Amino acid sequence: TKGAAMVTAVASRVQAQRKQIDEVLAFFRLTREQLVGVQDKMSAELEYGLKRTTHALATVKMLPTYVCGMPDGTEKGKYLALDLGGTNFRVLLVKIRSGRRSVRMYNKIFAIPLEIMQGTGEELFDHIVQCIADFLDYMGLKGAQLPLGFTFSFPCRQANIDKGTLIEWTKGFKATDCEGEDVVDMLREAIKRRNEFDLDIVAVVNDTVGTMMTCAYEDPNCEIGLIAGTGSNMCYMEEMRNIELVDGDEGKMCINTEWGGFGDNGCIDDIRTQYDVEVDEGSLNPGKQRYEKMTSGMYLGEIVRQILIDLTKQGLLFRGQISERLRTRGIFETKFLSQIESDRLALLQVRKILQQLGLDSTCEDSIVVKEVCGAVSRRAAQLCGAGLAAVMEKRRQDQGLEHLKITVGVDGTLYKLHPHFSRVLQETVKELAPQCDAMFMLSEDGSGKGAALITAVAKRMQQARRE
Ligand code: BGC
Ligand code: MG
Repeated sequence: TKGAAMVTAVASRVQAQRKQIDEVLAFFRLTREQLVGVQDKMSAELEYGLKRTTHALATVKMLPTYVCGMPDGTEKGKYLALDLGGTNFRVLLVKIRSGRRSVRMYNKIFAIPLEIMQGTGEELFDHIVQCIADFLDYMGLKGAQLPLGFTFSFPCRQANIDKGTLIEWTKGFKATDCEGEDVVDMLREAIKRRNEFDLDIVAVVNDTVGTMMTCAYEDPNCEIGLIAGTGSNMCYMEEMRNIELVDGDEGKMCINTEWGGFGDNGCIDDIRTQYDVEVDEGSLNPGKQRYEKMTSGMYLGEIVRQILIDLTKQGLLFRGQISERLRTRGIFETKFLSQIESDRLALLQVRKILQQLGLDSTCEDSIVVKEVCGAVSRRAAQLCGAGLAAVMEKRRQDQGLEHLKITVGVDGTLYKLHPHFSRVLQETVKELAPQCDAMFMLSEDGSGKGAALITAVAKRMQQARRE
């Protein structure tokens, strides 16, 4: 009959649509072989970055940090710390008490307006110094000459612990006249321009390194630092003899891998989708940080948005209507992805979130959106896990161990707030590096505390050299 024919027609249309959606999501499902491939390529890139002859061209920069010593519990005193490059800019006062391995912190969060992130370098550093001044006033510390550790979460070439030349901006920053400049000099000059107080800048530190140090303060087995937040990066303790860019063969030094640049030579193009390409092309730094753009909070929402646009164009979502909102860059922040993927959330609530974002959805739409978010974040966690597996395997083999037991200090909103990211990441590491036993340790306020600890260790070593 006519009615039955219509039901069959609808059913087969639904089936056809389902097939189209599955085809898109399939690009994001990586096989074990593909993940092993990523791990192998990452292993190769780590070696290129360490070797003198290949370093200049390496996409994983493997930057020496001049952080060699771990905290030993004798550190003490008051330190200032700055944390620039994550979700917020923060100024901190950190009091370290020796012996008890305890730290007290006071901090203030400051917004960095977009026009300052993307204005001139002078404006950016003047703003930072303005925030420091506010904080010192607030704490009643004007005039105090405290040692300062600067957590600056961008790739820096270091020739010492208190020198760091910005190689290039990443994430949402693009201030002019900074690339190729020493960020410590820029900070000192801004302090001079203000001519109100003096600070003793002792260390410039990547956030991964701060995170590792913070966790190492409690667990000496912590030799890896991982950030899965706005950006993505990893650092680890490497044998000096393997670091060809730095003289000396004794002991270890922390290497800031800057693995976000992995894939910039096209080596993982086989797994990049058209959506990844679109996100890259619409970013502040096209062609750069390709791995970061597949794995970190600043970009996952953008990948989701690109997929939703495509599905809508295909008539599979939002009644085929691409709204102005959906065309708007940056609407899906990590926190929305985390909310949408939460298992406790009923679909009706998913629709509410979409509503908040200005997207009118049907119940079917909300199911699809949730699936898309799941596919994108799962792939991110797996890719990040494959990278981590590469480093852990390297450490295991370098030390000639049957089994490696290692602690990974972790920070970042994606890792901490997303309902599935950390689990999938850990499962992937287990699967790809079965002879490594990783303990994941969340760092509490790693960047700030770590900068203070590194400053304290550096001060201790300075004094030891003087004596
Ligand atoms: C930066 C790294 C940083 C990471 C996490 C990346 O964009 O290049 O230096 O560690 O973000 O904040
Ligand atoms: Mg941070």
